[in-house]
Amino acid sequence: MTHTALARKYRPKRFADLLAQEHVAAGLAGAVARNRVAHAYLLTGPRGVGKTTAARILAMALNCERPGAGSGVGGEPCGECESCRRIWSGAANLDVVEIDAASNRGVDDARELRERAMYAASGPERSKVYIIDEAHMLTREAWNALLKILEEPPPRVVFVFATTEPHKIANTAAPVLSRMQRFDFRRIGPGTIAGRVREVARQESIQIEEDALALIARVALGGMRDALSLVDQVVAFGDGPVTAARVREALGLIGDELYAELLDLVAERRSAEVLPLVERLVEAGADLAEFAGGLGEVLRAVLQQILGGEPEGLTDVLRSCVVRRAPGFSAGDLLRMLKLLAETEESIRRSPHARLHVETLLLQLTLLDRTVELSEVLRALGTGSAGGSAPGVPAPTPPPRGLPSPPAPHRPAEPPVAAGAVPPASAAAAAPAAPPAPPAASEPEVVRRWGEIVEVVGQQSRLLREALVQATPLVDGETLALDVSGSEVDLQGLENGRKAIETAVRSVTGASVRVVVRPAGPGAGAAGAPEPRRLNRDLEREERLRRYRAKDPALDAAADAFDLELLE
Ligand SMILES: [Zn+2]
Repeated sequence: MTHTALARKYRPKRFADLLAQEHVAAGLAGAVARNRVAHAYLLTGPRGVGKTTAARILAMALNCERPGAGSGVGGEPCGECESCRRIWSGAANLDVVEIDAASNRGVDDARELRERAMYAASGPERSKVYIIDEAHMLTREAWNALLKILEEPPPRVVFVFATTEPHKIANTAAPVLSRMQRFDFRRIGPGTIAGRVREVARQESIQIEEDALALIARVALGGMRDALSLVDQVVAFGDGPVTAARVREALGLIGDELYAELLDLVAERRSAEVLPLVERLVEAGADLAEFAGGLGEVLRAVLQQILGGEPEGLTDVLRSCVVRRAPGFSAGDLLRMLKLLAETEESIRRSPHARLHVETLLLQLTLLDRTVELSEVLRALGTGSAGGSAPGVPAPTPPPRGLPSPPAPHRPAEPPVAAGAVPPASAAAAAPAAPPAPPAASEPEVVRRWGEIVEVVGQQSRLLREALVQATPLVDGETLALDVSGSEVDLQGLENGRKAIETAVRSVTGASVRVVVRPAGPGAGAAGAPEPRRLNRDLEREERLRRYRAKDPALDAAADAFDLELLE
């Protein structure tokens, strides 16, 4: 028994059978019925939604030997006559020429096309239909040749251009476009796809479970042809009723590879690749709400993996990706991602700007401020090597946020790169050369005017100002010691800002001092550091943000462009 592919066997024979394209069906059938068929049509839309099929049905309708006989509806082909069957099956036919522009895009082909178009239809009652698929692949020269034809179209010759990328045609074929009637095909909803697959399965005596139907509809990403091809694939994969598990096993590739790719992308923070990925999704006619639902399942699987569970219902592709990537996330990361997703999902489902919501969501996921990032920062501070490790490295320590930092045991050997306005401390360390000293500052002067000094510094750097607020100034000769009971971040900030502080002291008091930053350990005498935690937290966050932005240019640009709040 030879098996005819389901997608082929159940390809629509009438305009009315085109799923989810009622507007196209009405337009084309109406044109045929009223004898007002245009010379050129442009059919746009995602793949597998019926563009080429509609073009063939048009050719059938124009050449049908018994028009309207099958349905009694005007403009529909009968679908049964010799002509209809030949065209429908794609058999050799004088009156229908199908051209794949992806492989026939040169000037010569266009010339040939033009010459061939001059031959009118094969009979007085016949129409000649050229179906040009992947029309966005045609060259400018080809379009020019077509324009010449369309300026003086031969009688009963119809051009049907189909494309998934109409915007590309807009660039090269503007004059031709104005001579075309355009129909935009819709993506077919998963419910509609599931319904049609259910019907086909019934006719084919294939037992298929509802979960399996839903899964196939999801994976088909809005394309009917793909959905039926998937059924073929699943049915060939095993015996017995088609279950969701069997679908997953048989089709592991399509949907799940995309989710695996997305997970890689989030784990590695490749935010620059988010928009192209969404572009691909949309081009493929993906149901973005379904996509968001699937994303939720994947994130939940990662969370489950982290919590020591065994994620269920994953294909091998996805499972190995989840297992590989889970160590790069913390449970907190996943919870925040899931929360973000939950907050966005409704918008994705309802909004006419679903794509924008998906893009924003995915960007937020790739840019999400991870706990691993914080520990990385603190580790960098502790060891003096800033930002050397690759992203996605598992955090060896729990996030220390909100906990009081222990007094710093030592000064970092080399301060991390600072992106702010603060001059690098290493320069100060390398060249301590205090200029020939004016009178040493008297302690009362510097201490008395400490508030002014802090404000002067604050005009240059808010970060530094906040760090100074935490410090207790002690003057000993030409040395201004700053005792800091705050975090390492505070210490580091002050270290980096020593020059700025020295300058500020000079400008306020006229005195030259050398700033020394000292961690205030137990018994160091830093008596009255007021409300340190709140300020520390702000500063820590600010510092972390700054460091992170400096490290990741993509984030920096995106944060500016989208004014994204980096989530805690
Ligand atoms: Zn017919």
